[in-house]
Amino acid sequence: MLVARDVSKSYGRQTVLSHFDLTVDEGEVVCLIGPSGSGKSTFLRCVNHLEPIDSGEVSVAGHLVGYRRTGARLRELSPREIAAQRSDIGMVFQGFNLFPHLRVLDNLTLAPRKVRGVDAATAETRARAALERVGLAGKAAAYPRRLSGGEQQRVGIARALMMEPRLMLFDEPTSALDPERVGEVLDVLRDLAAGGMTMLVVTHEMEFARAVSHRVAFLDGGSVVECGPPGQIFDSPAEERTRSFLRRLG
Ligand code: ATP
Ligand code: MG
Repeated sequence: MLVARDVSKSYGRQTVLSHFDLTVDEGEVVCLIGPSGSGKSTFLRCVNHLEPIDSGEVSVAGHLVGYRRTGARLRELSPREIAAQRSDIGMVFQGFNLFPHLRVLDNLTLAPRKVRGVDAATAETRARAALERVGLAGKAAAYPRRLSGGEQQRVGIARALMMEPRLMLFDEPTSALDPERVGEVLDVLRDLAAGGMTMLVVTHEMEFARAVSHRVAFLDGGSVVECGPPGQIFDSPAEERTRSFLRRLG
C-alpha cells in the first residue's frame, strides 16, 4: 500500500531523511518509533506530499506521490491532482485541528461535500456512522471547544474516516492528551486496526506498538535502522542503536 524507497530529504544543509526505506502492506499496522528529531514527522509529511522529497520515491496504492512519470522524467502533479491524491490518505496529528466555529457534524461533512461532492443528507448519514464508530454518537451537535482533548482527537479520526482513506497516518495522536484520555484514543486506533485499516503510526506508546502493530520500525538519524515484528524489535533488537533507545525509555 505504501512503498518508500531510498528517500532523502534535506532542509538547507541539514539532511533529515536519507536512504529511507519502508513498506506498509495493505491491512498492515506499522508503528514508527525513534528519538526526537529522527525524522518521523517529516517522513509522514512526505507520504502525502506536504513536504516534497529530494530523491528516491514514495508511492501509495501503486501511485507515485506528488509526481507523474513521463518517460524518464518526473513532473510534479497539479495542486488539484495532489489534493485528490491526499484525499485518499487520512492524517491525524498531535493537535486536534478541528474547525472551532463548526459543530462536530459539520466538521465531518465539510470535506466530503466540498471535495467529493457528496450531498448533505448522505454526508450526514455517514458522519453519524463515523461518530458512532469512535464512540461519539451523542456529540454531533457539540462545538469542539466543548469536548475533551480525547474526544476532539476521536472527532479528528472520524473526520479522516469520512474520506474513506486507503491509508491512515497518525503522528503521536495521544501525546497532547491528559494521561487518562490516552486510552480512549488508542482504543479507537485498535478498533481501526482490527477492522483491517492500513495504518502508519508514530507513537511513544510502546505498549500500544507492541500490542497492535504488525511491524515496528525504529528510526534514527533519518533512516530506518531496523524494522520487524514487535517481539523482535522490543525483545531482541539486532542493532545497538535500537537497544540503547529502548534502554533509555526504561
Ligand atoms: P519528534 O519525536 O520530536 O516529533 P521527529 O522524529 O518527528 O521528532 P522531525 O519533526 O521529522 O522529527 O524533524 C527531523 C529534523 O528535521 C529535526 O532536526 C527538525 O528540526 C528538522 N525539521 C523538521 N521540519 C523542518 C522544517 N520545516 N524546516 C527545517 N527543519 C525542519
Ligand atoms: Mg514528530
